[in-house]
Amino acid sequence: MRRETMVRALRERAQQNIPWDIVVVGGGATGVGVAVDAAARGLSVALLEAHDFGKGTSSRSTKLVHGGVRYLEQGNIPLVMSALKERGLMRQNAPHLVHDLAFIVPNYSWWEAPFYGIGLKLYDLLAGKYGFGASKLLSKEETLERLPALEPEELRGGVVYFDGQFDDARLLIHLAMTAADHGATLVNYCPVTGLQRDADGYVNGVTARDDETGETFEIAARMVVNATGVFTDSIRRMADPAAEQFVVTSQGIHLVFDRSFLKGDTALMVPKTSDGRVLFIIPWHGHAVAGTTDTPVDAPSLEPRPLEEEIEFVLETASRFLVRPPTRKDVLAVFVGLRPLVKGEGKTSALSRDHVIHVDTSGLLTITGGKWTTYRHMAEDTVDHAITLGKLTDAECTTKNLHIHGYVEDSAALGSLEVYGSDASAIRTLAEDPALAVQLDPALPYIAAEVIWAARAEMARTVEDVLTRHTRALFLNAEAAIAMAERVAWLLAAELGRDEAWVAAQVGEFRALAQQYRVV
Ligand SMILES: Cc1cc2nc3c(=O)[nH]c(=O)nc-3n(C[C@H](O)[C@H](O)[C@H](O)COP(=O)(O)OP(=O)(O)OC[C@H]3O[C@@H](n4cnc5c(N)ncnc54)[C@H](O)[C@@H]3O)c2cc1C
Repeated sequence: MRRETMVRALRERAQQNIPWDIVVVGGGATGVGVAVDAAARGLSVALLEAHDFGKGTSSRSTKLVHGGVRYLEQGNIPLVMSALKERGLMRQNAPHLVHDLAFIVPNYSWWEAPFYGIGLKLYDLLAGKYGFGASKLLSKEETLERLPALEPEELRGGVVYFDGQFDDARLLIHLAMTAADHGATLVNYCPVTGLQRDADGYVNGVTARDDETGETFEIAARMVVNATGVFTDSIRRMADPAAEQFVVTSQGIHLVFDRSFLKGDTALMVPKTSDGRVLFIIPWHGHAVAGTTDTPVDAPSLEPRPLEEEIEFVLETASRFLVRPPTRKDVLAVFVGLRPLVKGEGKTSALSRDHVIHVDTSGLLTITGGKWTTYRHMAEDTVDHAITLGKLTDAECTTKNLHIHGYVEDSAALGSLEVYGSDASAIRTLAEDPALAVQLDPALPYIAAEVIWAARAEMARTVEDVLTRHTRALFLNAEAAIAMAERVAWLLAAELGRDEAWVAAQVGEFRALAQQYRVV
């Protein structure tokens, strides 16, 4: 993917006033999923993202590809079944980014083993042929053998079950590349600033601005799909300033620690925290990630900040279950995400996690809610609606068996470049230059060649893009990311043709941002 080529395609079509079948607003899991689905059906698609692909919620998840054990408890069987099927398809189509992971629910009371044991058997059953492995009851010794970091006092045993885990931002980048491979045009740093309407008031295009050059585009479309997550209502109000609020926002934080706090390859699932939620502590890229919380917030933002009480809550809950209680000084990074929840009554943790497709009287099609795991199904549903509403050329959805960019069967053999899948060989070729083989910081495995690859093939534009989503440095270790920033800026400057002033500005901006990912 090269940004110049994408912008040129946008400009040429705008100049000729040829409408795209679908223009997607928003480059998170939902929007990029729609672009993949539509492009793979042979429709013409442009996707516009205000920032970098995945800047919003889609890089800030708990990294689980799951049916949602919690939704089982709430009795939402159809949601669990559909998500379990999608979990299976995700692993099938992107095995380099989606893996199965063993989770233990520890039992400290007599009733927990039968209660969770039966519940998780039902979870296995609902997965059917998409199952990841059978759950089973474990003795105290077996539990500690699998999860030696668990607090042993009063432990009675545990239940082990299997779910999926992934790298959310990396999958998003590979989905964007999949869409591009099928002919979609995707442009980052290109916010939609307005909606265009025909004489009858129907939305028939968007206005967008290239934030790198200031150039504006009037882009005609047969259907406009609003996939902007927590920003959904701001786009709807471009067509109808009086549109009622549709989405509410809830914040979740994660704390990242050194792997030694968890040990082994098994995740810990706390089924009921003091506020009645679920908390996970999972191994991820050589670290331990603990989260999440569910705190209603008034207004969405691209860089939400953690609340003190959220940090304390995660630390306190983790400390109750881990033999070595983590403290503030052990936190290597904190990251925060905002859930787009379809409006309803009551606590945000009880609001619908199903996706919702909404069509405004202007014809604007909005897709929101759902979860990362169900992005493909959401996209299929959205494109089906768009074909009907926009009278587009009808074609069957093909994504159930569509390999995601980077697909390789034996990805484990790729070592620290596993997340690149089939692109790993191109990065290795770059790293034949000794200057590009150097590790950028001793705390993390990333090498200089990955920066070049991110800029050359994945449309990374800034230091933040490279250190936050293309590599996950900022999410894993904020101090190390800060230390890497200047080196990354120079590498990017050489690749993108930028000057010293750009480097200084980039380093300054990144360091300021990275402070928010530290806990002091
Ligand atoms: C804390 C937390 C943990 C989660 N954990 C999991 C999990 O483990 N597993 C799971 O399956 N799901 C999980 N989810 C849910 C999942 O992450 C979300 O459902 C999903 O990422 C939402 O994607 P989206 O594309 O709808 O939104 P986003 O990723 O936020 O994308 C919307 C995009 O729209 C862009 N945008 C906004 N305005 C404009 C404009 N004017 N022009 C162009 N672009 C614009 C934004 O920049 C943004 O990139 C979690 C969510 C949270 C908050």
